[in-house]
Amino acid sequence: MKRSLLTLEQLQFDNGYRQLPAEFYHSVAPQPLHGSHLISFNAAAAALIDLDPQQAQRPDFIDHFNGATPLAGAEPLAMCYSGHQFGVNVPRLGDGRAILLGQVRNIEGELWDLQVKGSGPTRYSRNADGRAVLRSSIREYLCGEAMHGLGIPTTRALCLIGSNEAVYREQPEPGAMVVRMAQSHIRFGSFEYCYYTGQHDNLRQLADYVIDEFYPEVSDRPDRYVGLLEAVMARTVRLIAQWQRVGFAHGVMNSDNMSILGLTLDYGPFGFLDTYQAGFICNHSDHQGRYAFDQQPYIGLFNMSCLAQALLPLLADEPQAGVETAKAQLNRYWELYRQEELQVVRAKLGLQTEQDEDLNLYQTLLALMEGQVDYTIFFRGLCDFEPGKVGANKLRDMFPDREAFDVWAARYGQRLALEQSDDAARNLRMQQANPKYILRNHLAETAIRKAEDDADYSEIERLLTLLRHPYDEQPGHERYADLPPEWAQSISVSCSS
Ligand code: AMP
Ligand code: MG
Repeated sequence: MKRSLLTLEQLQFDNGYRQLPAEFYHSVAPQPLHGSHLISFNAAAAALIDLDPQQAQRPDFIDHFNGATPLAGAEPLAMCYSGHQFGVNVPRLGDGRAILLGQVRNIEGELWDLQVKGSGPTRYSRNADGRAVLRSSIREYLCGEAMHGLGIPTTRALCLIGSNEAVYREQPEPGAMVVRMAQSHIRFGSFEYCYYTGQHDNLRQLADYVIDEFYPEVSDRPDRYVGLLEAVMARTVRLIAQWQRVGFAHGVMNSDNMSILGLTLDYGPFGFLDTYQAGFICNHSDHQGRYAFDQQPYIGLFNMSCLAQALLPLLADEPQAGVETAKAQLNRYWELYRQEELQVVRAKLGLQTEQDEDLNLYQTLLALMEGQVDYTIFFRGLCDFEPGKVGANKLRDMFPDREAFDVWAARYGQRLALEQSDDAARNLRMQQANPKYILRNHLAETAIRKAEDDADYSEIERLLTLLRHPYDEQPGHERYADLPPEWAQSISVSCSS
């Protein structure tokens, strides 16, 4: 179908979430920040809703998103949800600082939420200010695009809006807004909210809405809610395995931050691995390491259990049968995860056949890398591996125990020989699984400091361009793929954003 480019006024809103019962949301308009200005516009996200990128040149462009001028067809609301935060059930959360402006249907019939984050208080703000600071908004804006470039399902962002208004955290900081996009921002916690408040009829309506709009493949099944649980689990395990592939730690995998569509959602204190460290904790508020890098698959199961429990009233007519169905589904979690994990492992190692030893081969390597070797640089370097040439290979110099690496490399060489692996073809394949460029903390931090100190937003644009193609070599940009500088160790990210 030919795409014609639309003005803001021509966007086709189809606000289906608003048709759900009143308990699911509360109507509220965004509140502009003083001195709002457009920092960055993402034409790639605009294309998702057929929006003409020239629209960003309009002097009143951001006014339509920050609340200064209503956007035709938008019916702003804050979504209600609850969730398990750090394992504890919190009966009501909801969009405390985000507002769903509306849902736009593009020419292909896809639905896209336009959501503005940092847009002021809502009924769900729980005495907080409803605002977001510039630094965290830059991180969210960049990381959505970085993940998309990596081929990992994620929310996107249409634009980043700066302001002259101070927002108070540990100290005053510039306030900002991100206009986020996702096919839906419905979370596991949206279902938990219905379940724990005993709104079983609403629960069914929410599930039907999600199935009809986003999971048509299960809609004709007599057990469509079991189908929904299965489908969400499939997407969730795939998502987490993909996070592990690129060394991404989400940081706050509360069930209210788990997307019902299997998207990476709510970028807060996330981090990418620099040096490989299984127990890497990116969130400085996470003292117990609940959301450490190697815990993510386990937390995925915990969150799936939260969702399964919330769906119990729909899974069977009789409570005990519902419990058995949920258990049977959850019992498949590890098998599904292992399948995804093995695909990731084989892709990272460039293996095309399956051998029982493959996972062990990979885990042995990780154990050698632990606390010593940069995850991204090593795997990118491994793409060039040529069996028998280990000694001359710069890979071994990354390991303090070079001989231990030689032993592993010999084993890897034998494994490759077993499938007559062609070095050149494998190299190309592996480059598609092992990115060269990731959004390391220090790269985001550099963009943040320039923005905060000098109102210089050029680094944001540079990173966006770079991270759209993380698997390409991009000559001239090698320094963005270097080891982090010393000062990167002092960067601290927490939930306070
Ligand atoms: P998060 O950790 O960002 O996923 O947020 C958890 C919950 O706290 C959500 O319900 C948010 O809407 C809410 N929240 C976080 N920061 C703020 C804020 N500055 N103002 C209002 N609500 C907030
Ligand atoms: Mg959240």
